[in-house]
Amino acid sequence: MKEEKTELEALKDELFLKREHYSFAKSEDEVRKADEFCKGYMSFLNSSKTERECNKAIIAMAEKNGFVPFDRAKKYQVGEKVYLNNRGKALILAVIGKKGVSEGAKIVASHIDSPRLDLKPTPLYEDSEIAYFKTHYYGGLRKYQWTAIPLSLHGVIIRADGEEITVSLGEKEGEPKFVITDLLPHLAKEQSKRTLSDGVRGEELNILIGSRPFKKDKSSESVKANVLSLLHEKYGVTEEDFISAELELVPAFPVCDIGFDRSMIGGYGHDDRVCAYPGFEALFDVAAPEHTAVMVLADKEEIGSDGNTGLNSAFLRYFIADLAAAEGLEGRHVLSMSECLSADVNACFDPTFPSVHDRNNAAYLNHGVVVTKYTGARGKSGTSDAHAEFIGKVRRILNNAHVCWQTGEMGKVDEGGGGTVAMYVANLNVDVVDLGVPVLSMHAPFEVVSKADVYSTYEACKAFFES
Ligand code: MN
Ligand code: MN
Repeated sequence: MKEEKTELEALKDELFLKREHYSFAKSEDEVRKADEFCKGYMSFLNSSKTERECNKAIIAMAEKNGFVPFDRAKKYQVGEKVYLNNRGKALILAVIGKKGVSEGAKIVASHIDSPRLDLKPTPLYEDSEIAYFKTHYYGGLRKYQWTAIPLSLHGVIIRADGEEITVSLGEKEGEPKFVITDLLPHLAKEQSKRTLSDGVRGEELNILIGSRPFKKDKSSESVKANVLSLLHEKYGVTEEDFISAELELVPAFPVCDIGFDRSMIGGYGHDDRVCAYPGFEALFDVAAPEHTAVMVLADKEEIGSDGNTGLNSAFLRYFIADLAAAEGLEGRHVLSMSECLSADVNACFDPTFPSVHDRNNAAYLNHGVVVTKYTGARGKSGTSDAHAEFIGKVRRILNNAHVCWQTGEMGKVDEGGGGTVAMYVANLNVDVVDLGVPVLSMHAPFEVVSKADVYSTYEACKAFFES
């Protein structure tokens, strides 16, 4: 028999904020459901390592689920599903609701670009009989983490004749991979005196790509010539073609379970595909919502959302305006009534480095999807800071749907900070709050998330779309 609660225990039960592990909050069956859901996510992550690959894979999945290219001249009926492909890098999916957009749309916005190493426009060079690519890193990464790990090359090359060549090398069994070398500890005495942030410098992120000369020819740049000859053979490209190319280096290892209990997933690109995937899966599972449900999969978030595939551009605004026009409404009126979850990751409390977090306001592993009122830095600069009224509404939606959720701030005050797409959507006069998966080792080549948190994000997005 359980002992009766003391008065204090009863009081705490009634008044204290409950912080609960998913496994305590949910049944064993629901834990299994989360594990099952993540299998699909892991396979998506393995095959989609760049924004272009995500775009392609999501369109293929959307088409299987009945989505067709958006035609702004067409008037859509309830339950019809459309998608808008923005330059092969960003994407909007929508399911037309019973009320259309007459009372606004329900938008979930995530991003499908991740931190990585981009090739420079003239990347190829030879030094001491070794051929290299020069890179310029994309997004906020800790450079020392990217050395001495296997890398694969992805992207496109637009040749002089206009032909687009798709590149993916280093993923399949038997394909060569690439790497950035680092000093041996024996000779790293001076390098080790550098600060951690300066430990490996931007111009030291050079990719090892070849070491044999062209046909026993001892003339200069023979190794570079040999690499170019191989590239010409494989892709029909010349050195000038790199200028009109977008080639990205990403970690070449696959996603896997982490831990004896397999409760976590390790892999590259969780930020922010770990919110994108639950978002579009939730949309696929929404049949005929009250309000038109819109899933945005943006590019360029990791470099500040600028550019016409980023959310600081007009592509979402134009899409909503087109939906509005088809119903005889003004885009600005529809936006003003719309609501958005900015689905992006947050920092997960790391017990090895507790000092950067305020324990009362950190997001914890396995405590479900995290609602983040504001991001930004230095006194809430660079954030939209969600309104209490809107958080109140989202809170009711999550509680009514029994979603396991928590709240969290991105680190201690003045410890650092970050941003998401939230403020760009909010600037369109949309109510927005951040919500997503807590991540360990965020922006590292190998990030870690909890399966329960991924599934909770799916449940949160679905409940929001259906609200
Ligand atoms: Mn992100
Ligand atoms: Mn990020």
